[in-house]
Amino acid sequence: MTVDAATTRDYIALDERWSTHNYHPLPVVLAEGEGAWMTDVDGRRYLDFLAGYSALNFGHRHPGLVAAAKAQLDRLTLTSRAFHHDQFGLFCRELAELTGTEMVLPANSGAEAVESAVKIARKWAYQVKGVPDGAAEIVVAGANFHGRTTTIISFSTDADARNDFGPFTPGFKTVPYGDIDALRSAITGNSAAVLLEPIQGEAGVVVPPKGYLAEVRQICDDTDTLFIADEVQSGLARTGAMLALDHEGIRADLYTLGKALGGGIMPVSAVVGRADVLGRLKPGEHGSTFGGNPLACAVGRAVVKLLATGEFQERSRELGAYLHSRLGELDGVAEVRGRGLWAGVQIAEGGPTGRQASEALMARGVLCKETQEMTLRVAPPLVITREEIDFGVDAIAEVLTAP
Ligand SMILES: *Cc1c(COP(=O)(O)O)cnc(C)c1O
Repeated sequence: MTVDAATTRDYIALDERWSTHNYHPLPVVLAEGEGAWMTDVDGRRYLDFLAGYSALNFGHRHPGLVAAAKAQLDRLTLTSRAFHHDQFGLFCRELAELTGTEMVLPANSGAEAVESAVKIARKWAYQVKGVPDGAAEIVVAGANFHGRTTTIISFSTDADARNDFGPFTPGFKTVPYGDIDALRSAITGNSAAVLLEPIQGEAGVVVPPKGYLAEVRQICDDTDTLFIADEVQSGLARTGAMLALDHEGIRADLYTLGKALGGGIMPVSAVVGRADVLGRLKPGEHGSTFGGNPLACAVGRAVVKLLATGEFQERSRELGAYLHSRLGELDGVAEVRGRGLWAGVQIAEGGPTGRQASEALMARGVLCKETQEMTLRVAPPLVITREEIDFGVDAIAEVLTAP
């Protein structure tokens, strides 16, 4: 294929004219993907160092996932939940068994899973904990990211996510992430739940202090408060374990899952957890036309099958250690945070901004994106090889020292 700059420009002009401007993508127009690589409309190849914010943990078009989707496309794609279908119960059982949980509520987007968890926690608080009607509170962390719905942005601390979108949903209390005393003080008799990301992705891949999550678990136990772990980004092998909380040896009462659960093919999310909590939902009280559809369940089952081997968790652990050691040695880096094949690279003062670094990386054939002003988020597909990591890290080394 020949390089045709006008083609890229034309596609971008279409986006800018006809779509809302709620993103600021890098000026690359992608047309194909395979494994850890993507190809643009001009035939240029790029190493994927972002993996769709962890939606592509298994890489682009993983053969097992594509085969499962194609097989299901030829059988049955949608039923609504008005009827049973033959993929639904199997998906729920397999996902519950994989995550060591008791019950599954399937949904589509990550935000929908978080919304569902909020609703269920409130219902549990009223029906089981005895919180007075309308008084349930959920404790959340500053700098959180849980999605973009009106209720979820109501407890965001990001001005861009909130400004001019009010009025906001009440019932949330915000405490600084990682501050166990603040969290303890925020809990009252009306607390339904604590909702946290085990590692804060959008905030810059922020890992809480050692022991923090276990103390959160203890406080929740002591006060009869649910612990909801939002593992939409951190879960499903990204950190080198099935769930990020597994590293701490603790369990949440509810987990929200998404992103990688759809295998990079379609949106699939879920709330998984305790049956005595999820089981509070009765017919008519909650639902979703597309949640748990046959195609989503077939793809989700194929994802579960890949995760059950442990191969991707192991790759993330081993290659993640390599990624972190290489990033940690670079000039122009103030700090590297994260776990497994997931790193927030804090660019040192005086260096390029995250956006400038991302653009310079693109020119070198590596697609990565900033989060916050001065942080590069590195989260390659877990199928990446050591040599490909070297290719990406070498490019980062160049753009941070000679942008
Ligand atoms: C991406 C993300 C969400 C929202 O998922 P969507 O599918 O974009 O709605 C929620 N929580 C966390 C931790 C995420 O990273």
